[in-house]
Amino acid sequence: MTNPRGRFGVHGGQYMPETLMNAVIELEEAYDRFKDDPDFKRELATLFNEYAGRPSRLYFAERMTRDLGGAKVYLKREDLNHTGAHKINNVLGQALLAKKMGKTRLIAETGAGQHGVATATAAALMDMECVVFMGALDCERQALNVYKMRLLGAEVVPVTTGTATLKDAVSEAMREWTNRMADTHYCLGSVMGPHPFPTIVRDFQAVISAEIKEQMLEREGALPDVVMACVGGGSNAIGTFYHFIDEPGVQLIGCEAAGRGVDTFETAATIATGRLGIFHGMKSYFCQDEYGQIAPVYSISAGLDYPGIGPEHAWLHDTGRATYVPVTDEEAVQAFEYLSRLEGIIPAIESAHALAHAMKIAPTMRPDQTIVVTLSGRGDKDCVSVARYRGEELSE
Ligand SMILES: *Cc1c(COP(=O)(O)O)cnc(C)c1O
Repeated sequence: MTNPRGRFGVHGGQYMPETLMNAVIELEEAYDRFKDDPDFKRELATLFNEYAGRPSRLYFAERMTRDLGGAKVYLKREDLNHTGAHKINNVLGQALLAKKMGKTRLIAETGAGQHGVATATAAALMDMECVVFMGALDCERQALNVYKMRLLGAEVVPVTTGTATLKDAVSEAMREWTNRMADTHYCLGSVMGPHPFPTIVRDFQAVISAEIKEQMLEREGALPDVVMACVGGGSNAIGTFYHFIDEPGVQLIGCEAAGRGVDTFETAATIATGRLGIFHGMKSYFCQDEYGQIAPVYSISAGLDYPGIGPEHAWLHDTGRATYVPVTDEEAVQAFEYLSRLEGIIPAIESAHALAHAMKIAPTMRPDQTIVVTLSGRGDKDCVSVARYRGEELSE
């Protein structure tokens, strides 16, 4: 699947300053050594099962299916994992790998704070030091997650450079890694950055599609017709796709955040509006302005407003193996409300982007066909912003 040095077609690679190459190479060698190591695999499986609560349920959304009138809709319940999202899969894997490498300190970037909280959680569990870089603007917007990270024992460093948001936090974390690679592992939050991160993060998230495959064969005696997920950097989506990439009968759909629309400047839909570029150590598609500078992005969902997409997705798009569709704030909010009322499940606003597209296509499919939508996370964290979107201010 991957060529040497982590290429996915023309995408991926290692576009790093010389100062970071040693860290990246050390990580690549360690991962090659441990990924098939029986002890490593056993310890990770125990963490997944005992701590994160895996396998996550595959839930048949019967009321939603009946209401939409078409394909059967199943929900892959990553929202039921410990800490409420798929991110725990990745951080447990990386924290364990870092520990095996003899590292004592984890650093991470975070946008909305979800990956920061997940990393701080793994660091607490494994008795590691933890420093999280977060845009100063995001620190203000996500005060609760800043509190949680500190409660879990992490140090949160507000980043004031650039737009003081996620992309600046990534840049700062990379800078910090350069300065202190001897005892520090950079726990990157999605399938992006230089090789080997897109491969490592994908492998840890691939548990999602491994379970879906087994659960669908057990429930339906067949593979799903469609699997779909929301795409920020693309980790829950690649996890959902991975074990189906070589199954041509399974359609793969990634749902990007269109924000206020792909014909506006307030969007984060990278495949729909981005161009080929090099940023944060990888070649892929990025939202850019007319001068090739990384464009500011917008979505109601803080977890999806990264201006790029992981290189394996860029390649799945180029080859036509996967399809990427934009979903607006309004459509996602409607899906957020719809699932809450119909199934009693409040989804993360990120996940609601995938649900919104499932609501569009299910009625166009036959009742003997199936769709699996990955619910990447739970929606408690989004209630205040969705209420505000609907014109209601909540207070404690
Ligand atoms: C972070 C996050 C995402 C986006 O990240 P990916 O790497 O694209 O999966 C999606 N859903 C939830 C609930 C998240 O916390």
